Amino acid sequence: MAPSRTFTLRSLRGQLTLWFSGLTLLTLLCVGLYVGRLATQQMAASAGASVHAMALTAADLLGAGLRERELDIVLLSQAPHFTRGDLTHPDLLLSLQRRRAVRQEFAWMGVVDPQGKVVQAVDGLLQGQSVAQQPWFIAARSGVYAGDLHKALLLEKMLPKPPDGEPLRFIDFAAPIRNLRGDLVGVVGAHIHWRWVAQTVQLAFDQSTQDNGAEILIINKEGVVLYPQKLAQRFLLPAELRSSGPGRRYTQVRWDDDQDYLTSVVAVNSRTSQHLGWSIVVRQPLEQALQPAHAMRDRLLTLGLLAALVFGAVALHLGRLFSRPIEQLAEAARRIERGDSQADFPEKGQLTEVEQLGQSLRSMTRALLAHERELEEINQSLEAQVLQRTEALAAANRELEQLATRDALTGVHNRRRFDDKLNECLEVAQRTAQGFAVLLIDADHFKKVNDTYGHPAGDAVLQTLARVLSETTRAVDFVARYGGEEFVVLLPHTADAGHAMAAAEKIRTAIADATFPGPGRLTVSIGASLWQPADPDASGVIERADAALYQAKAAGRNRVVLG
Ligand code: GH3
Ligand code: MG
Ligand code: MG
Repeated sequence: MAPSRTFTLRSLRGQLTLWFSGLTLLTLLCVGLYVGRLATQQMAASAGASVHAMALTAADLLGAGLRERELDIVLLSQAPHFTRGDLTHPDLLLSLQRRRAVRQEFAWMGVVDPQGKVVQAVDGLLQGQSVAQQPWFIAARSGVYAGDLHKALLLEKMLPKPPDGEPLRFIDFAAPIRNLRGDLVGVVGAHIHWRWVAQTVQLAFDQSTQDNGAEILIINKEGVVLYPQKLAQRFLLPAELRSSGPGRRYTQVRWDDDQDYLTSVVAVNSRTSQHLGWSIVVRQPLEQALQPAHAMRDRLLTLGLLAALVFGAVALHLGRLFSRPIEQLAEAARRIERGDSQADFPEKGQLTEVEQLGQSLRSMTRALLAHERELEEINQSLEAQVLQRTEALAAANRELEQLATRDALTGVHNRRRFDDKLNECLEVAQRTAQGFAVLLIDADHFKKVNDTYGHPAGDAVLQTLARVLSETTRAVDFVARYGGEEFVVLLPHTADAGHAMAAAEKIRTAIADATFPGPGRLTVSIGASLWQPADPDASGVIERADAALYQAKAAGRNRVVLG
């Protein structure tokens, strides 16, 4: 298998990269989410506290402001020049104008007689007109009055419209004017611009909180929004805030715009004669309040991602550092396996373990190669031995064959082999009707040779005789020693008596002409016979040759007789 040079997840590089990046990402994800969660909780608590503090401040400011404005009117109504009963006196108007000069929020100030007619008023507004039906007048005849928000009615056309296009709206303060005897001599009344209320609560409104989307609302006792104008008259204070009692500094609630807000509700304690029942609500969208925490969490998560990428790259590099020497080892092993004699395991590496592995592999490979060479040598020597033994065996077989089929003295075939050959020829002849001839050759007066020259000389004569026989016959002819000094020649494919006689004569002549060691000359008598189809076995042809030989001997030797 080829080494993984490419990046796969199963490779060392892949695994290291995966685990490093994965663990880093996981750790920083956990840390990011956990820290983000903690920060979110703390941010919510801190923003909630800030929202609550703002609501408290606004409520306090508004409460104190309202009380002061009421006191302004009460104090005027109790001033001696008012209680004297002359409502037309210019000092009264002067007092009203001075008050108005320092408190611009007073849209209208005036004194009204007990019948409801405006006697004097700042800027002469409504002067001489009746306010008898106005709630503030009716209420103030019997006591100090602080009235809830209402739209301008009579003054609508007389006063300039607010610059922001909002309707002209007021809250009213009024107090009875009584003489020293306690009789009602008139009423001091004042309308305060709603604008002043809005500005007062806005004073508590910290700019940075506004940037975070915080809003301040004033609601009346029914929960109807009085301020700001864009939400005014909308009954949108969430039910759970309306029902919840004091004690909770802030809550996370969903408003009717389907957004979650950190909300704090604080009742305005105006300490005025009539309790207005207003509340200050400060709300901040939760999303915006928690934005810094979310930003921090996002930064942490981004950091985690970047860290994972960096760690992944480092792991990839490390993986390469670790896997390269291993790949080199594998490559070297493969080359060695292919029989590359130049290949070797790298000796030096950056990692001790890999270096040790390389050394171990090198020594192991050397040992294996040495062992292989040794085996090869053994193999070669074994092969040589086997070859040697095989040759020896073949020689022995040849020798055995020689011994089994050849005559030891003369080297021609022996009698046993002749018998086999005779039977083979007989079979062929019987199958194909191709005849053969047999010549029985007997040395004449051989006893004499032995007697005269000794037995070894007789042997030598026999050897010469055999050689002459072999030389005189064809390659297909078969020469054998029949026994003692008697030989036999088998002539295959010879059915003709003439041919047989010619071959026998040729032999007889060759022997008679040959020189023999010892006697010098030697003759033979030959009995020839032909195979005849009527022969049941080999004995017939032999017997006829034997008889012929006998005849040849009897006729004087050195001759051929056909049987
Ligand atoms: P004939 O002409 O009638 O054949 O006379 P002969 O002397 O050859 O008579 P015979 O065939 O009976 O004698 C054969 C002799 O051959 C007898 C024996 O001593 C001798 N002889 C047989 N085998 C061997 C042999 O292997 N070596 C030697 N030297 N002599 C042998
Ligand atoms: Mg004989
Ligand atoms: Mg003889």
